[in-house]
Amino acid sequence: MTPSPARPRSGELFERASAILPGGVNSPVRAFGSVGGTPVFMASGTGPYLTDVDGNRYVDLVCSWGPMILGHAHPAVVSAVQAAASLGTSFGTVTAAEAELAFEIAARAPVERVRLVNSGTESTMTALRLARGYTGRRLVVKFAGCYHGHVDALLAAAGSGVATFGLPDSPGVTGAVTADTIVLPYNDAESVRQAFAESGGDIACVITEACPANMGIVPPAAGFNELLAALCGEYGALLIMDEVLTGFRVTRSGWYGREGIAGDLTTFGKVMGGGLPAAAFGGRAEIMERLAPAGPVYQAGTLSGNPIATAAGLATLHECTPDVYARVDQAAAAVAKLTSDALTTAGVPFRLQEAGSLFSVFFGVTDPVRDFGAARSQSMAAYAAFFHAMLARGVYLPPSPFEAWFLSAAHDDDAIGRIAEALPAAAAAAAAALG
Ligand SMILES: *Cc1c(COP(=O)(O)O)cnc(C)c1O
Repeated sequence: MTPSPARPRSGELFERASAILPGGVNSPVRAFGSVGGTPVFMASGTGPYLTDVDGNRYVDLVCSWGPMILGHAHPAVVSAVQAAASLGTSFGTVTAAEAELAFEIAARAPVERVRLVNSGTESTMTALRLARGYTGRRLVVKFAGCYHGHVDALLAAAGSGVATFGLPDSPGVTGAVTADTIVLPYNDAESVRQAFAESGGDIACVITEACPANMGIVPPAAGFNELLAALCGEYGALLIMDEVLTGFRVTRSGWYGREGIAGDLTTFGKVMGGGLPAAAFGGRAEIMERLAPAGPVYQAGTLSGNPIATAAGLATLHECTPDVYARVDQAAAAVAKLTSDALTTAGVPFRLQEAGSLFSVFFGVTDPVRDFGAARSQSMAAYAAFFHAMLARGVYLPPSPFEAWFLSAAHDDDAIGRIAEALPAAAAAAAAALG
């Protein structure tokens, strides 16, 4: 494969976009900030491949950050979208398919009632409000390095160390908002026990990624999620399991399918929208029935349960059979093995961590990565060199080392073979960057 395909049209389009869109993008990680360079403008996708506006083809290891578990332009999803669109794009009132999507979610995940929303951010934001409304308490516990969308109260991280009250992570988020957020180091059982011992009566909920995948893959230590569930139960707080990323991807239900620990509330997104804007949250009936209009906790959405998004989500989940999960798992295991072998051959120190079909690679780190502090000790420069060498050879990786690598059921031998061809040179580039 020829390195360094030319991307003049992407360059022109980025210049034009930057004149009107802040940073040239509509979501920050797309701007290549942590790997350098400028984004690749994609024109189309089919199966495991993306084609950019200059006609270059890439094996896609981003899969739209998770949703495209069947690959791009899957025929069943495309025809469901076309059929729904031809009947009208939005009615602003109830449609039959909304309940079907909710039943499909409840058949897979531990929830008794479901509300459909438009984005993962909206699902976690509302789950927090519901937890506070239900318990009548104010404090929210989150973990450093866990991402739950750009909800004000959750845009708080703290340095490493012991329990701290959160400082805002972004201008525009006031201290008053994050003052009710307690940020704890991930996988640190003692700090969670301590937070409950000190403030248990005021804690409305603990929100956690069921398996963190937004600081690289950092699986929960044995017993950690169990401890969260037990402490929440003991103190009358709710556990919110954020499965926006892992839901319907790492198993047919999500991380729940691996560990069996249910949240009182669970949030979903990504795969369940099939590449369209759809997300959801759900939980026990007695909690969910507190939502308007059944109860007093307000939440609404003009486009919630949109017919086209609902059709795409239903079609995707219907296609997500055991065979699909087996294929995604196999493809991920194959790419993880090839990557490990190439980095080992090139003499690059690394740590590869997996969670079912999700995995990520920490460059320049060899010890287990158990929290955000350890995740941040990886070499950004080595990843950037690796990323660009792969991109130049037709493999589109996440443009940040803090993201999972996403496979789909469409990643066949041909796609995996292309990744294998690109790896040795990329591993050498990472080795050179580490010096
Ligand atoms: C992506 C993600 C979100 C936010 O979802 P959006 O649809 O981007 O708002 C929330 N939680 C987790 C774990 C995610 O990975």
